[in-house]
Amino acid sequence: MRPPSESVVDRFLRYVRINTESREGAESVPSTAGQWDLIRLLERELRDLGAVDIHVSEHGMLRARVPSTVARDVPCVGLLAHVDTSPAVSGANVTPIVHVNYQGGDLVLPGDRSQVLSPADWPVLRDMVGDDVITSDGTTLLGSDDKAGVAAIMTLVDVLRQNADLPHGPIAVGFTTDEEVGGGIDKFDVAAFGAAFAYTVDGDALGEINDESWNARGGTITFHGLSAHPGSAKGVMINAAYAAAHFLTSLPATLRPEHTDGRDGFIHPYGGTLDVDRAAVTIILRDFEVAGLDEQEALVRRLAADAVEACPGVTVEIALRDQYRNMREVLDKHPHLVEWALDAARRAGLPARTRAIRGGTDGSRLTFRGLPCPNIFTGGHNFHSPLEFNSRRGLEKTAETLLHLARIVAEHRGER
Ligand SMILES: [Zn+2]
Repeated sequence: MRPPSESVVDRFLRYVRINTESREGAESVPSTAGQWDLIRLLERELRDLGAVDIHVSEHGMLRARVPSTVARDVPCVGLLAHVDTSPAVSGANVTPIVHVNYQGGDLVLPGDRSQVLSPADWPVLRDMVGDDVITSDGTTLLGSDDKAGVAAIMTLVDVLRQNADLPHGPIAVGFTTDEEVGGGIDKFDVAAFGAAFAYTVDGDALGEINDESWNARGGTITFHGLSAHPGSAKGVMINAAYAAAHFLTSLPATLRPEHTDGRDGFIHPYGGTLDVDRAAVTIILRDFEVAGLDEQEALVRRLAADAVEACPGVTVEIALRDQYRNMREVLDKHPHLVEWALDAARRAGLPARTRAIRGGTDGSRLTFRGLPCPNIFTGGHNFHSPLEFNSRRGLEKTAETLLHLARIVAEHRGER
């Protein structure tokens, strides 16, 4: 097989230097101009690599297509990655460092020597001895989330261009904006994308396919009191803040995010406002099972009622709504999609397995909009951190897995 015109590592190193940090609370999508720089670059590169039907929407959503090379009817597989990086850590002036032939031990990042990447914290580094570990210089994030996904998909397009005789069906490529600040994917045109099913390439450990996301519910618990001048408040003032405090301290500590992992859900009050006449708690509930989520809501309602009872005169208003759902609900009806991804990882020599992702993905939202969409690894770790890292092998194996996936889909004509 002929290699791509540019290695996936070189491609990745080019993309991470472009500042595509997204911004919370912006009016428009994309939230930042930098995302346009990468989208326009990808548009040009896709054209040069022979992709067709290239289209960029007013929201910076890029879609393109690699035509089928086989005569038979093969379903169109979509591959998606987001171009933005998290605003949690700066994405400006990213200086990627390639730690060639990593020999184990701590990596002190040169731009901020207090940033130390250690196998004690990240045992996966022990599997990377002899590999080229890639980090930032410690002053920014790396942006492997999700430029590793972008680079792997672009490398697939490149490899298919160099090897026009490889049998594969139509491939829809999608690059999206504002994933990290939510809302971006709502602007993605699923019908125009034209894929029968898709994969986001936005996961982490090599070999890991995410086939589950949270069932997510959230909203506001508002306690109402009565304000009065504190000098003449006796018998009049009803301080809603105490009801909010009562409610917060009554939530079981065992259900906090900092005390849960694996398949355990959590209840997380993450913000709010305190005033005498009104104390509001913003809260999210997360569980992999709908029944578990319903139990959490029942508990929240009971504890809010207890708080009201403990604070005479206070009333409560509870507004909770479903935010997104576990994609497994839909993926269970298309079990071959996860199987194909696992098979592709195996063919790339990776330990293939599924894992429930403790979050939501663009894929979980797309899944419920009619585009079943598991999530594929990228080899990256420690997202949204100055200690984010990936490796040469991580990038190469991700790109290789996508190539196997394209071939596997073409072997299964007609199945959707
Ligand atoms: Zn991501």
